[in-house]
Amino acid sequence: MALTGLQIQKWLPKTNCKECGCSTCLAFAMKLAARKAELAECPYVSDEAREVLGAAAEPPIRTVTVGEGEPAFKAGGETVVFRHEKTFVNQTGLGLAVDDTLEDRELARRVAALRDYRLERVGEVLLPDAVSVAFKSGSPERFSAALERVSGSWDRAIAVRSDDATILSTAAERLRGRRPLLASATSATVADLVEVAKKTGAALAVASEKFDDLVALVGTCRGDGFRDVFLELRADSLCEHYQNNTVIRRAALKAGLKDLGYPILTYIDTGDPLDDAVAAGIEITKYGSLAFLPTFDPADFTPLLALRQNIFTDPQKPIQVDPQVYPVGEPDENSPVFVTTNFSLTYFIVSGEIENAGISAWLLVPECEGLSVLTAWAAGKFGGDKIGAFVKECALEDRISCRTIVIPGYVAQISGELEDALPGWEVVVGPQEAGDIESFVKNVLTR
Ligand code: SF4
Repeated sequence: MALTGLQIQKWLPKTNCKECGCSTCLAFAMKLAARKAELAECPYVSDEAREVLGAAAEPPIRTVTVGEGEPAFKAGGETVVFRHEKTFVNQTGLGLAVDDTLEDRELARRVAALRDYRLERVGEVLLPDAVSVAFKSGSPERFSAALERVSGSWDRAIAVRSDDATILSTAAERLRGRRPLLASATSATVADLVEVAKKTGAALAVASEKFDDLVALVGTCRGDGFRDVFLELRADSLCEHYQNNTVIRRAALKAGLKDLGYPILTYIDTGDPLDDAVAAGIEITKYGSLAFLPTFDPADFTPLLALRQNIFTDPQKPIQVDPQVYPVGEPDENSPVFVTTNFSLTYFIVSGEIENAGISAWLLVPECEGLSVLTAWAAGKFGGDKIGAFVKECALEDRISCRTIVIPGYVAQISGELEDALPGWEVVVGPQEAGDIESFVKNVLTR
């Protein structure tokens, strides 16, 4: 039976230390009762309390880990349906599906291409998460060799895919210590595979075309005390996937259906690379936890990883850069100063455009809580007085002799205020859009 906030609060330390992000233990207890927080967010809960609170303290969607150590991939753990309620917790994993019918060199090439791919965007490094190796050849020896080849050159999460319980069992033994994902158990194999997964420390996906069968499979796992489960609800169309994922998420969060409170696994293969990318986009936006694509093309992974970054960024905490003076190019004491906010996206766009303009400059980035230029100005965090004070705080006048500061065109109205705050400086109103910095530099700043 679900516990109320007051019942949960009795088991908390009641010190109101705020380390969980709530102002009081009672507020935290209320969030726990509403499944909007995890017990682990309070570092001071006793073992006894952890045991007593049990299911009441668990997130409605279980967090399941695939892989070991630093490159391990975590799925699930979500507590909300919409990202504006609270940030989503664990990003949708994106992976590549290969199989043992591929020639050795081709298999090695595909895995190496995935492994070596990285995308750096707004200061974060984005990587693919997993490789899935399927048994298709009919030869256990060939499958074993393919698995060996992949596991030797890929240290992130690995899934193995087969309907044959013996193949999955052998693979789980071979990958013992790497915590693989076994995909997938059906009604014929679930009992055996639960034992294998428990023995080897693997996670286990259960697969079906029907909700009722899927729930029954999860029930078998839970009945055996095994809960590191992924749900693979197979569907024929993108529309059906979208619908199924939504039903699973809402059933787990809104109806409290424990048997659907697990991460979602999807193998995408529409036969068309563009549709595959669209399907992966749907998984990212609508509740997929781990999606495998049949091919790897940076032209698909780049927008997918960027989309994922956007969806899984906390909307209440924009990605920020540290407030400081950044050199762009190789500025010296005569280089001009540009100023913008510490919203990461704005910072990277502005610094990139200054570089494109072919000049070196100083980029002054005051603390604006990650807001964009106009929002920060409207919130009173990007005025002439604040910028002037930050110039002094950074001791910029001691470091450079140039006294030209360029402000964004959207806040032209702060120029007088900034001139008052910085006597002796020339305040130049720059363009509204960063894309116009190059022509501004050519036609105004260096003319
Ligand atoms: S971290 Fe724990 S002890 Fe501190 S306020 Fe939150 S619930 Fe209370």
